[in-house]
Amino acid sequence: MNNSVNVFVLKQTDYREHDVIVQALSKEYGVISLMVKGMKKQTSKLAYAFQLFSYTNINIDYVSNDKIHTVKHASVIDSHRMLREDLDCLAITSVVAELTLKFAQSHDLFVEFTRFVSELENRSQKLTIMNLYLAKLLSLEGNTPMVDGCVMCNHQKDIVSISLEEGGFVCQYCNQTMHLPVYNVELLQAYRVIHKASFDVYDKLENYEVNQFSLTRLLLDALKIHSGISTKSSRFLYEYYSQR
Ligand SMILES: [Zn+2]
Repeated sequence: MNNSVNVFVLKQTDYREHDVIVQALSKEYGVISLMVKGMKKQTSKLAYAFQLFSYTNINIDYVSNDKIHTVKHASVIDSHRMLREDLDCLAITSVVAELTLKFAQSHDLFVEFTRFVSELENRSQKLTIMNLYLAKLLSLEGNTPMVDGCVMCNHQKDIVSISLEEGGFVCQYCNQTMHLPVYNVELLQAYRVIHKASFDVYDKLENYEVNQFSLTRLLLDALKIHSGISTKSSRFLYEYYSQR
């Protein structure tokens, strides 16, 4: 059957001399693998349509048993050039795309990823957008941490740290035996707020320090601990933001 599908291009892998296997996110099928024949030839009309992070309409013969679907025709709907050319956007989207490919195996992420892309392009606080998306991924797997009190004893005050393993805040009394790093109030507040917030309340987040890489690092570590998922592209992100 000839299917017309709109997809986000999330990953490209070279295959044979001229072909490329593309992994893409679609509303209908979640993650699908596409064979783009001749994409590496200079004359390829498909290369433009399959640039990373493009939103593209494709025609394929979708057979549910097939692992890889050959693309017959493709045209760009929105190239999302900014995601490749702006370094903040590139560093962030590379990691988010890699995580999305992995989480989309078990969760429907098309709507959330679409929202992420539009927020990232239009908002100035780029790390806030990334952090909101990472918190969403944690919640999808039921790993939203306890941020209304100490995860060990439920004490509401004197919070000084975060245990990623236990999944929540830690108070100064419990930390006398846990010996976790002590965080400043701004980071603790930001960690709480990011798990309560969503893209809808972006404008209300300006009073909190949620646009910081320290928060991103905690969220990426939490994803690694709880879902066992880490990304190759986060290396570039770490290098990029530690130099700023
Ligand atoms: Zn405690």
